Amino acid sequence: MFKQFNGVMLQCFEWYLPSDASLWKKLTRKAPDLAESGFTSVWLPPSYKCADGIKDTGYAVYDLYDLGEFDQKGSVPTKYGTKDEYLNLVKTLKENNIYVLADVVLNHRMGADETEEVLAIVENPQNRNEDLGTAKPISAWTKYNFPGRNNKYSDFKWNWTHFHGVDWDAKENKYSIYKFYGKNWDKLVDTENGNFDYLMGADVDMNNVDVVNELTNWGKWYINFTGVDGFRLDAVKHIRSDFFKKWLKELRDDSKKELFAVGEYWSQNIDSIINYLKNTDFSLNLFDVPLHYNFYNASISNGTFDMRKIFDNTITKLYPDKSVSFVDNHDTQPGQALSSWIAPWFKPIAYALTLLRLQGYPCVFYGDYFGIKHDNINPITSTLDIYLYIRKNLCYGTQTDYFDHPNIIGWTISGDKEHPNSGLAVILSNKDGGSKQMNVGKNLANSILYDVTNNLKETVYIDNDGNGIFYTKPGSVSVWIKKEVSI
Ligand code: CA
Repeated sequence: MFKQFNGVMLQCFEWYLPSDASLWKKLTRKAPDLAESGFTSVWLPPSYKCADGIKDTGYAVYDLYDLGEFDQKGSVPTKYGTKDEYLNLVKTLKENNIYVLADVVLNHRMGADETEEVLAIVENPQNRNEDLGTAKPISAWTKYNFPGRNNKYSDFKWNWTHFHGVDWDAKENKYSIYKFYGKNWDKLVDTENGNFDYLMGADVDMNNVDVVNELTNWGKWYINFTGVDGFRLDAVKHIRSDFFKKWLKELRDDSKKELFAVGEYWSQNIDSIINYLKNTDFSLNLFDVPLHYNFYNASISNGTFDMRKIFDNTITKLYPDKSVSFVDNHDTQPGQALSSWIAPWFKPIAYALTLLRLQGYPCVFYGDYFGIKHDNINPITSTLDIYLYIRKNLCYGTQTDYFDHPNIIGWTISGDKEHPNSGLAVILSNKDGGSKQMNVGKNLANSILYDVTNNLKETVYIDNDGNGIFYTKPGSVSVWIKKEVSI
């Protein structure tokens, strides 16, 4: 079962991992340690063959049935390993009680085997509801025959009728957004650029019944074949929301599994995000992108960000049970298109705001837990391990917020009787140091707390009513727990 309460997800990759087909093996070796550290679920990167073969991070999907089994796109393995290594990894993770989420990219295909001549209309890139000129024949990369797989698992072949459009005319060697003649972009997608159905490659037509059947068949196959427990869904704002509502229901009914799903809706517009959640009948969760940007803005604003507003306009605040909160990911890391890397001084604060609170399901980024060699970025493993321990063992009871100062905010979690020495107090600042009186509840009355981050050496005495005065250094966070607990 997906453990929402006190659970933690690990995003198991960053963009610049070496193309050496070693990740599945490495994660298999680490599975017991990951469980021991407190991770209850993992998000694995896409497991199938992509346009750039072994060098491909996983989002330029070529063949959803080739999990590193066939000699296609220049190699048998994907960037992360072979089919058998992937199956072994999923099995090992599950044996360690870790819930496995597979990354599912359905919006587009890339690396077609052949071109086709198709009538297409150029769209205004800023307003894709506007046609520029009339339909003309283009040469589109839309024919997918998968010769290397030779019909194993599925004999479905893709052609232009299964797509809405492309962004490359191979006849003229010209880039534009080409919509195929007679096709309409799907509704119920993000409304940026007029209609944001089109993202990249050959855009899959979710309005085509053969496509929907094929993707449903594939989903059933994938769950049976790999044993994964749920999904991370890529680029959902470019896919009609009612597709996922039906797709997930059918797979859940078929597999009799819970199939927790979290979608990537990359937008800071909370209204669009909430709208999408509602249109899917809340059948999936979403990554809290607005919260990421609040963290980012706070981290680069030199103490001028009003920390009382750190959760404003976020999913975590409005729909905490539907939020997967995160600090950074493979798209926000340095060098990527959406680069918005949280400044290092703010990372321990941002992770405290996700891992040490009761709202949202936090996801830890590989680059923060294991580092990013490509950019010489060091991990903050020891801080994260402390937080993970606290989340697993001490985050129980009632949370009380003290978001009452523009720079210094804090909260307490009362602890409960079932979890010995549970409860904590967190205080942080994005500017000057300071103090705050907070009440931690009766459970911790008459006890002594210490700052487990070691940022401050003093201890805090909690009085008979549960009150204590807590301190933080400038631009820092202190996490106060019972002195009997050593981590
Ligand atoms: Ca689309």
